[in-house]
Amino acid sequence: MNRSKVALIRCETYDPDTVYQAVRRGLDLIGGISSLVKSGERIVMKPNVLYGTNPEKGVSTHPSVFRAVGKLLQESSARVAYGDSPSFAGAEGHMKRAGLKQLADEMGIELADFDKGRTVSHKESLLIKSFVIANGVLDSDGMVNLPKLKTHPLVRLTGAVKNQFGCVPGLLKSQYHVKLADPYDFAAMLVDLNTLARPRFCVMDGVVAMEGNGPRSGKLRKLNVLLFSTDPVALDATACRIINVDPEVVPTSTLGEKAGLGVYHSEDIELVGDSLESFLCRDFDVIRTPQEHCSQNRVKAFIKNRTCERPVIDGAKCTSCGMCVKMCPVDPKALDWRKGDEKKPPAHNYDRCIRCYCCQEACPEGAISAQSTVLGRLFFRN
Ligand code: SF4
Ligand code: SF4
Repeated sequence: MNRSKVALIRCETYDPDTVYQAVRRGLDLIGGISSLVKSGERIVMKPNVLYGTNPEKGVSTHPSVFRAVGKLLQESSARVAYGDSPSFAGAEGHMKRAGLKQLADEMGIELADFDKGRTVSHKESLLIKSFVIANGVLDSDGMVNLPKLKTHPLVRLTGAVKNQFGCVPGLLKSQYHVKLADPYDFAAMLVDLNTLARPRFCVMDGVVAMEGNGPRSGKLRKLNVLLFSTDPVALDATACRIINVDPEVVPTSTLGEKAGLGVYHSEDIELVGDSLESFLCRDFDVIRTPQEHCSQNRVKAFIKNRTCERPVIDGAKCTSCGMCVKMCPVDPKALDWRKGDEKKPPAHNYDRCIRCYCCQEACPEGAISAQSTVLGRLFFRN
């Protein structure tokens, strides 16, 4: 069996020319841009634009990475577009705030439609037999996935496989959270999405990564690395190894290998470029324990509810903006105003909470974080 190639390239700055050279070197090491896309093909780039903010906040794929990949695609005579579907309303405003729209306009890269989509069936899936996929993806010949290396309480690492969730338009995403409350079902859905809309190649921005309360409100951490691969599972597994996480803790690794999306065992991955050891960050702040399954058994569900991590609001940071209440997808809501008082921080109802962390992602103040319970710390965790 051929091993999946992952290239690691040292890049210590977002200086556009430095990033361009690093991206060119990385893509050359995985086969070269001309072997990855054909002249005249319409290729859509999919950066991670969870929420449009100043690029220096590290929430989105940095514009310099976007620029470098876009430029190389254009130099290979591809017709280039870009898009993402943030959970919070239309894409264009987010793209502007993330510094991507201005750049794309200058480069003649058009914004593809990720706000609406069409239903497509997926016969070879692990779990989901049909998806609504953004028009911008369906109307392209191929995708290029540009994830940002960040933590995520639900899937531990938001990398290449999770980044494809933005191919599902807008609020449809929250329905998957409700239907797939078990984190392993949710991960199977992500894998299915990737086998349906398989990226041609992935370039992960780990120059400045996000640790702690990611994917929106964590701390920035310089890792000085760009990762390249045609295999999103191998790419994520390598990112895991850099931040000292067992890839098996990220459920899309095992499920991704099962589905034939990629491989995660180190012996199946050929590393090229700069050495993995030179990027290791052993104390990266990330949850290193595996997710627990949801259980239909009431006793097990009761125990899990009191032992697994859960979203907690820091009242001192909360401005009572209500975003978290709005984004909670379960009905009735697992997070609501206390007795209807919209001036005080809302409160969680953990018996209803499916731990999707949409509230944590939505909070503009970083007031919600995943925290382990006293019982969980006492009995099951370090
Ligand atoms: S309270 Fe937060 S984590 Fe729980 S279901 Fe609602 S959005 Fe998801
Ligand atoms: S989103 Fe954050 S700041 Fe806004 S109400 Fe919820 S916890 Fe408070």
